[in-house]
Amino acid sequence: MTKRIFRSILTVTLTVLVASLVLIVGVLHGYFQDRVLEELARSTAYIARGVEENGMAYLNDDLPKSSRITWVASDGTVLYDNWEDEASMGNHADREEVQEALMLGRGSASRYSDTLSQKTVYYALRLSDGSVLRTSDTNYSVWMMVLQALQPVALMMVLAFCLALWLAGRVARQLVEPINAIDPSAPSEDVYEELSPLLTKIRSQNRQIQRQLLDLQQRREEFTAITENMSEGLLVIDQETRILSYNSAALRLLGAKAPVEEGESVLTLDREAGFRRCVEEALAGRRCEELLERDDDCRRVMANPVEQEGKLAGAVLIVLDVTEKEQRDRLRREFTANVSHELKTPLTSILGTAEILENGMVKPGDVAHFAGNIHREAQRLIGLVNDIIKLSRLDEGGPAAQWESVDLYGQARSILDQLSTAAEKKQVTMTLSGTSACVRGVPQIVEEILYNLCDNAVAYNRPGGTVSVTVEDTAEGARVTVADSGIGIPPEAQNRVFERFYRVDKSHPSGGTGLGLSIVKHGAAYLGAQVTLHSEPGKGSTFVLQFPKYVP
Ligand code: ADP
Repeated sequence: MTKRIFRSILTVTLTVLVASLVLIVGVLHGYFQDRVLEELARSTAYIARGVEENGMAYLNDDLPKSSRITWVASDGTVLYDNWEDEASMGNHADREEVQEALMLGRGSASRYSDTLSQKTVYYALRLSDGSVLRTSDTNYSVWMMVLQALQPVALMMVLAFCLALWLAGRVARQLVEPINAIDPSAPSEDVYEELSPLLTKIRSQNRQIQRQLLDLQQRREEFTAITENMSEGLLVIDQETRILSYNSAALRLLGAKAPVEEGESVLTLDREAGFRRCVEEALAGRRCEELLERDDDCRRVMANPVEQEGKLAGAVLIVLDVTEKEQRDRLRREFTANVSHELKTPLTSILGTAEILENGMVKPGDVAHFAGNIHREAQRLIGLVNDIIKLSRLDEGGPAAQWESVDLYGQARSILDQLSTAAEKKQVTMTLSGTSACVRGVPQIVEEILYNLCDNAVAYNRPGGTVSVTVEDTAEGARVTVADSGIGIPPEAQNRVFERFYRVDKSHPSGGTGLGLSIVKHGAAYLGAQVTLHSEPGKGSTFVLQFPKYVP
């Protein structure tokens, strides 16, 4: 803008300058011509008087040769000329000034010479005898005047040009400065009056933009608040896989670091092939779902293409943590397979024995033995079914029994009594020590937990071994410790013994259903207690059951 104003001012100034120059030259030229003509009229009148009085004799006198004097007879014949030989000069009757003088008594004319550089001004006066006396003088043409004054004119022009340059620059800057100083976000009032409508418009648009920005910010905050409270991960990407929007759950689930840099590709968040496939499929316009498994984590990624005005604009990715669901599904599958297997084994045994009995292939003396087999397997089956029922009850939120105060010491005493025959059989000594400690819980579940722990301590013991049960009422809450001097559990199996149907040694003669410690684990969780295991193979195992603090 400054340049434009500068150029405009300069052009105007130069145009005015040149026009003024032309005008001045024209006016001056006219003025000088008038002066020359006046001078000529005066000198012609003077010479004419001399000629009237003295005739040709006056002209022969030493008149100044600076002006040309021509005396022309009334028929146009040149009688005298002080510059040229009159005999060689043609008839002058056709000369404009002569004709005018003959008619009006005086006449004037001006003519350019061939070169156009000089102009001759003529003045003619009719004498009393009808002849015409003419004087002439040369005058510079406009061109010549300009050429003559070229040096000072050029100097003047250069000076004027420089002045115009300086002034144009200064004026342009002064004009533009207040406009440049306008703050578009808050334009002030006192600039140019002509800019007022524009500034008013800017102000109103600023207000509108401000309102829209606030609105946008509010919406963004709402969106962020919603997405940040989602446990599902959400990612919005453009066609070049650049992340446009995300929530922290997405980064957490993908195991990526926050914050995401601007323009970062979503593929840097997770390098798994399944994730990349999902993104590529969505950006190709197809919906895609993938299960990503890493260590113990399981995430499901769902990618949907996003279209804008019929064109693919990017994709939306939802990341779900399905670890628990997948684990549950896996456990259910394993459980079903295990249950089927565990049920099938005793049933097959019962079926086989029953068939032998039915076919009369058993001697009467052996019938009791075979019937005993059937009885044992059936008992095992019932035990298994009971354990499954207990577990599924716990899975579904526990039995519909009332919670009440349970004395752990009393419970432990009754369980040791129940197991005394089995312990005797295994030559295992059981002891109970400690004090009475009350917990709040479901007696049936407390009993099942303690029974399973003590039963295992006897079952996986060695002849002559010991089982010591200690009940304490500590500051943290009631605690039961069941320690045995049995076969122990190898370190790698210590975590797994709480899994359903897991048995360290499937051929162990005391082997149960493999559900006992699962019932312990789920029962303890149901009561808010914690089970910990310390075991050393060959030395024995200690199970600690820590209940929460309870004040009856
Ligand atoms: P089971 O019915 O086979 O006893 P549990 O779930 O009670 O099933 O125990 C799972 C496995 O853990 C057992 O098969 C056994 O190998 C091991 N186990 C449990 N308690 C003890 C213990 N006190 N000493 C040694 N091994 C044990």
